Amino acid sequence: MMSPVEFFKTLPKKVCPECGQHVEEQAESYLMECERCLSKKME
Ligand SMILES: [Zn+2]
Repeated sequence: MMSPVEFFKTLPKKVCPECGQHVEEQAESYLMECERCLSKKME
């Protein structure tokens, strides 16, 4: 049995589908892309 803490550690990190970079977790954000790709889309 894994403790809840260990379980969350094993969760895959959120990765930008555009460039494959790790995306910082933003609980309030529904966006998947990293800031770099988001800024590209804004233009
Ligand atoms: Zn990206």
